Amino acid sequence: MADKTWGGEPFWGLSYDWDPDWLLTERQKELRAKLIDLCEGEMRANAKRSDDELLYPRRNFEILAENGFLSLTVPEEYGGLGENHVAFTMVCETLARYGCASTAMCYVMHIGAVSTLMLRPTPELIEKYIRPLNDCKIGTLSYSDPETGSHFWYPFSSSAERSNGGFKVNKKASWTTSGGFADFYVVQTTSPDFKGYDDLSVFVIDGEHVQAQPSLWDALGLRGNQSGPIQVDGIEIPADQVVGPLGDGAASNDEAVDPWFLIGSSSVWNGIAMGAIDIAKRHTTRKRHVDVGMRVADYPTIQDYVGEAVMDTNACRVFVMSVAQAMDRATDDNRRVLEVGETARADFLHWAWQIKFEAAKNTAHHVDKMLHACGGSGYKRDMELERYVRDAKAGWVMGPTNEVLRQFVGKAVLLGFDALDYWNQTYNKRVVENETKKLDAAGKRELAKELSEQADKDESREPAKA
Ligand SMILES: Cc1cc2nc3c(=O)[nH]c(=O)nc-3n(C[C@H](O)[C@H](O)[C@H](O)COP(=O)(O)OP(=O)(O)OC[C@H]3O[C@@H](n4cnc5c(N)ncnc54)[C@H](O)[C@@H]3O)c2cc1C
Repeated sequence: MADKTWGGEPFWGLSYDWDPDWLLTERQKELRAKLIDLCEGEMRANAKRSDDELLYPRRNFEILAENGFLSLTVPEEYGGLGENHVAFTMVCETLARYGCASTAMCYVMHIGAVSTLMLRPTPELIEKYIRPLNDCKIGTLSYSDPETGSHFWYPFSSSAERSNGGFKVNKKASWTTSGGFADFYVVQTTSPDFKGYDDLSVFVIDGEHVQAQPSLWDALGLRGNQSGPIQVDGIEIPADQVVGPLGDGAASNDEAVDPWFLIGSSSVWNGIAMGAIDIAKRHTTRKRHVDVGMRVADYPTIQDYVGEAVMDTNACRVFVMSVAQAMDRATDDNRRVLEVGETARADFLHWAWQIKFEAAKNTAHHVDKMLHACGGSGYKRDMELERYVRDAKAGWVMGPTNEVLRQFVGKAVLLGFDALDYWNQTYNKRVVENETKKLDAAGKRELAKELSEQADKDESREPAKA
């Protein structure tokens, strides 16, 4: 195995011995070595500027574009590198570990947007958005809604209607990575002729039509990712900017947005954890305590911290890459174009929830342990560890949050997938019966009267039957 280098010297962190390289192809290892060089050359230095100045990492995106990474997963016939899900996890992890976690998160959203278009490719979408990617065209996903918080699959404040042969789109998003900086935004709204919250549609909106206020963005970590609110205010778009058929939103979420986002963002959390371990190795093997003649790394306590962090993080890395491999197998290495109604990645969604939960939990825990291992020196900004600590904390709270995920998994295991009820449509008879039991006869009559009046109102709003 080639040695890992940093500016022509042996890398100061963990060697390739501790990377699960049997999961990568030779080409993917070459791409990783190239990315590590790019991180050393400029991208890591830019991470500090993004963090200090809340600066969008555009220069890092230019570097990625110059080297073909903005179309990593796009088929070669459309100008891409034709790579698969495992390659995507490798790129996200490498960027976060050696370069810039904010860039890595913007990159996750970029490839998420690109992959959502490529789920339902049309000649128009390919010409306008896919072929120009390596001219540094940046995409992003805008799903979160101010009214529904981390339930990002529930676009309460957004809508679309038919207009002039195309569509008029209204979108309000509370958070959008690259908000105000992206060239195109893949957004989800309720469908025209909306029938209920599982009736969602996906559109692509050009950057010039998106109102954003990047100056409002200020956060604990991932400070360069500029995840501010955006608004699309009744913008008219041509019919060829709908992505997939109308009503395809839920399928598109399950088959593109969630799988790509979850394997990519989990890889960012794993990259941040590995980056913190690299820094801890560098510091603890160099710092000496003259009184006892030992380096910090010679204390068994510090060895325990690092050993446990490496094992836990590698468990998360192999877990993520294994799910990515499953998606590669189901999609013929990301070459299969799925018909509407066909699924492949979606069949592994409940695995993707698990990898995100574990990776986000792991990084939040072990960046703290690496800080403890480095002592007060790690608390100071010059070592860079404190940036990794702050960046790592975004994992747990980013939607789907870890609270939501562990409940999804526990509920699905115990009660079945239907019990998840994403759009609040299933009536919970047990809860209602339990609550009505608490009412006396008068209370029950009062409730029955209210329900009867509500039923009359609902009925009067329903379209008349022919
Ligand atoms: C750095 C960063 C970048 C982001 N980028 C994007 C982006 O590009 N695009 C995008 O669409 N969104 C993005 N988001 C938003 C993210 O996906 C979530 O929507 C957001 O973090 C939720 O924040 P909130 O304050 O609305 O949380 P809330 O939803 O109000 O949650 C508050 C608390 O309630 C808990 N909770 C919520 N629902 C349940 C439930 N059903 N059961 C149990 N507990 C529950 C949560 O876990 C949390 O502990 C980003 C977030 C961050 C931090």
